[in-house]
Amino acid sequence: MPSGSDHAILLGELLCDATHEILWASHADDIRRQQANTVLQCRVGPGRATYHRFDPRHQHHLITYGARMVAAKQHPEHAVGWLSSREIQQHRYFEGELSTLNLLAHTCCHEFAHLLQQVAGKRYRGSVHNRHFYRLLDDLHRQGGADQVRGYLQEGARRRGLALSATAFPPVAAPAPVTLWQVGDRVSFGEPPRLKRGQVVKVNRKTCTVACVSGTARYRVPMQMLRREQSRQDDSC
Ligand SMILES: [Zn+2]
Repeated sequence: MPSGSDHAILLGELLCDATHEILWASHADDIRRQQANTVLQCRVGPGRATYHRFDPRHQHHLITYGARMVAAKQHPEHAVGWLSSREIQQHRYFEGELSTLNLLAHTCCHEFAHLLQQVAGKRYRGSVHNRHFYRLLDDLHRQGGADQVRGYLQEGARRRGLALSATAFPPVAAPAPVTLWQVGDRVSFGEPPRLKRGQVVKVNRKTCTVACVSGTARYRVPMQMLRREQSRQDDSC
């Protein structure tokens, strides 16, 4: 059995294969009708950062799965703080069940939905996890792609001798909001043209105090109105 970090890297490589062989394979024809010579590269990054990027000059999509993200999703107490856990529960993906297998399968779908969102021209600065994104993500789950990815990961892990648990996490009390937001998190709230971006400077019981990027304004914002902003230093998914 590989050591912890090797295990996470090997599982990350399996996520890359699943993204190519299931999601890319079933969408590539449609995508190439809009971006003729486009290519997808998936890779495993060393940290937590997990993201999709597009280089328009080379028509190059890049999806990075962070090895530390993969490792964190092995443990219920580390998994609950990730956006993928909240999405599975709030959108009832995989019937709302949290497990390492479901979280990693969903992560492939989340990043691939960003790719589809970019192809559709619906990714906007300051509004990444928008309704267009969730429509695409919903489709990946509803149309069976997510289940196929889940099956591919399960079978691939078995063949490669990698532990990948499908056991539902024991019910943990709904995470206290304080575990979801931390001082320093980059966030946004509101909708264009009144969209605000800033940084959490204080976590209160039901609100966060957010200092805006532009100007000196501070707002106390209900936690459910906050969205996490992506940055290279921080994971968002
Ligand atoms: Zn995302």
